[in-house]
Amino acid sequence: MTSTASAPGLDDAEAAARLARDGPNELPRPPRRSVARRVVTQLTDPLVLVLLVVATVTTAIGDHTDTAVVLLVVLGNTTVGVIQEIRADRSVEALDRLGAARARVRRGGSVRTVPAREVVPGDVLVVGAGDVLAADGTVAWGESLQLDEAAITGESLPVEAHRPGTAVLSGSVVTRGRGEVVVEATGPASAMGRIAEGLVRTRSRRTPLQRQLAVLGRRLALVTVVLCAVVFVLGLARGESPVLMLVAAMSLAVAAVPESLPIVVTLGLALGARRMAARNAVARSLPAVETLGAVTLLATDKTGTLTEGRLRVAETWTDREHDLDELVRAAVLCNDAPADPGGDASSPGTDPLETALVDWAREQGVDVTEVRRRHPRRGALPFDALRRRMTTWHDDGTGGVLAAGKGAPETVLPPPGVSARADRARAWADDAAGRGLRVLVVVTGHRRAEPAAGDAEQDLDLVGVVALQDLPRPAARGALDGCRRAGIRPVVLTGDHPGTAATVAGQVGLVGHGEPVRVATVDEDDDHPDDHPDDHPDRHPDRLLDADVVARCRPERKLELVAGWQARGEVVAMTGDGVNDGPALRRADIGVAMGRRGTEVARQAADLVLADDDLNTVVAAVDEGRRIHTNVRRFLAYALAGGLAEVLVMLAGPVIGVALPLLPAQILWINLLTHGLPGVAFGTEPSEPGAMAAPPRRPGASVLAGGLWLAVLLVGATVAALTVAALVLVGEPDPRSVAFLTLGLGQLGVAVGLRARRPPRTTRAPGPDWLLIAVAGAVVAQLAAVTVPPLTTLLRTTTPTPTGLAAAIAGAVLAGLVARWIARPRVAEKESS
Ligand code: ADP
Ligand code: MG
Repeated sequence: MTSTASAPGLDDAEAAARLARDGPNELPRPPRRSVARRVVTQLTDPLVLVLLVVATVTTAIGDHTDTAVVLLVVLGNTTVGVIQEIRADRSVEALDRLGAARARVRRGGSVRTVPAREVVPGDVLVVGAGDVLAADGTVAWGESLQLDEAAITGESLPVEAHRPGTAVLSGSVVTRGRGEVVVEATGPASAMGRIAEGLVRTRSRRTPLQRQLAVLGRRLALVTVVLCAVVFVLGLARGESPVLMLVAAMSLAVAAVPESLPIVVTLGLALGARRMAARNAVARSLPAVETLGAVTLLATDKTGTLTEGRLRVAETWTDREHDLDELVRAAVLCNDAPADPGGDASSPGTDPLETALVDWAREQGVDVTEVRRRHPRRGALPFDALRRRMTTWHDDGTGGVLAAGKGAPETVLPPPGVSARADRARAWADDAAGRGLRVLVVVTGHRRAEPAAGDAEQDLDLVGVVALQDLPRPAARGALDGCRRAGIRPVVLTGDHPGTAATVAGQVGLVGHGEPVRVATVDEDDDHPDDHPDDHPDRHPDRLLDADVVARCRPERKLELVAGWQARGEVVAMTGDGVNDGPALRRADIGVAMGRRGTEVARQAADLVLADDDLNTVVAAVDEGRRIHTNVRRFLAYALAGGLAEVLVMLAGPVIGVALPLLPAQILWINLLTHGLPGVAFGTEPSEPGAMAAPPRRPGASVLAGGLWLAVLLVGATVAALTVAALVLVGEPDPRSVAFLTLGLGQLGVAVGLRARRPPRTTRAPGPDWLLIAVAGAVVAQLAAVTVPPLTTLLRTTTPTPTGLAAAIAGAVLAGLVARWIARPRVAEKESS
């Protein structure tokens, strides 16, 4: 536990020069895929291969107009596909940057926080509990510095690293103490870099929704292929040419399979992540964006999340005359906060509780620097959330040792009944806790020599109790209200005293009006820190799992609780900022870290980082997550109903005596037009009013749950019926052109019918209505297809009579209304049923 003078560090110019010379401190990224490679991937898609076969057939039989249309469709599909893919990749990269690691370095004489990628060899890293080492290096000085290198070496025992010269590895977590590290190797040359080079980073992990849609897509493709075969056989039976029927069946297959599903989902998630970031919620992965919408339980910590995290000493207890001076002295000695008020007190690594004690001492007229100079520190057992106490020892000025300690009453005081004075202190502390104050017992002791490791905390004398006020955050009440309205159960997990926790929970409205707060305290009997939670999935006392507040909760107990809730089927979001919260944050479905106040290890373990440290941002992110999921369902209803309508029309043809209701080129055109523009625009639909007043969706439910698949069948059948009606009832000279127009406009009508419900005009957020714009563009293109010469030749259409036109438009309106009545309510509202 030695400490020597700190290293000077680099100046800015030198750091910049080294950054240019040695390169950024980041892991080698897989090279970006070139546009050419992306095009090749698009062209080797099975559906495009089918189209290319079709083009070959049509060329072989000299049908050059159809060849032209098919190639146009391939070109259109590929362009849209590549653009969507690049947009999605860009958004994911932007996310990576937002969630990037940070480090504190000493540069040009001051300590500042920089992106970890800018750390260079020679830099001095200033580290404290909760930091993640950004590079390899050697310890310049350390105090009780202890590292967890499990991420690098797999070794789970903590490593003592306070001795100057100790080699330390990037990616290690500082579990306690503080110190400075001179950087030696960064980026690929560092331990993290060497590990990363072996593995190609799995870039785009597919989300559960993407996997579900892949399965759905394969099933639909199979059904479609079978139905297309039926269309082919029926056509042959009616004496059509086999080649024409083959081309028709293949085109139908291409049109009806919703091949753009996966990319539309990826794009929706990526754009959603961008919107979340604009609302201060940085999602660190696409799966997180999706999972957020399904959260059912929010476990939050207390200090700094429900409270301001700015503490102030409110009351003290001592019962002997000279004790107040001793209390102040011990409180500033057993303390790592800087003595000067202008210091970087808000930086991570400085405990606001300790800053509060220094401030209080100064108010009492104590010269903190002078006290610390007179009693230089010899050693320390730092605070950690497991022990809930801290002890330091100092020169007492007369050749002996002065020990100073502080901590939670039950860890520092003897058990009840041992000492009347301690019992009085305890009673006072319980009373203060009951009023929402955070309590700390202070003890001291005099020794002849430095204590041995094991007995530093033996035989210390009670000096007094300090009670600190941490005001509830006004914003927390709204966030908790928002959670409850959205069917998300809020729970507080805290290491604090049950009295303090219950009072604060009541003040911020953790439970509904008039309901009692159910508080559970983790007993030592319940604590089995060595057990792995997965070994005993149902060992968790229901008392803890059912509580609104779990007090005296240690980090590893948080992990068990998360696992216990998950075993009950909850989708758990958990906030945390402690050094030891990493495993629980990772275990939670959504780990939430605070961007400003949180530790680096929490940030890196989290799925969601709140840039503004505001719990309301979690609620906003859940809203975004739900919006994205709803829009995927919206798009799915639209795309599946459209494909179904196309197949049904082609199947109905032979029955009503028309072998080919639509020509292959016409089918492909409708597909390009309905999917190209409006399909993507669905992702921009706003969240519906009331989305956050409904319960969360059932975890694991099908993306078509809530009767949506039935609505798809009905809407698809309606569009098909209207198209067939246009074909046989209107009595046009060219019925096929009217049917073509009706099928295209009918699907666009469905798109409009599926638009999200808007809040009243006054509260509507400004911004273009992309879906309507896209639909308008598609309507123009569809009208052009039956009026503008080169298109009419390619698609073999004629301009319908006014009657035919009116019939098509009426059909589109009707289709839109049916979609609005039947499908729209099922898209958003019935998800949980
Ligand atoms: P939480 O962050 O959930 O509010 P902590 O684990 O930080 O709880 O603190 C638990 C208890 O440990 C506190 O109630 C307090 O008594 C004690 N404690 C907190 N910080 C310190 C510290 N810096 N030194 C000594 N004891 C502390
Ligand atoms: Mg804390």
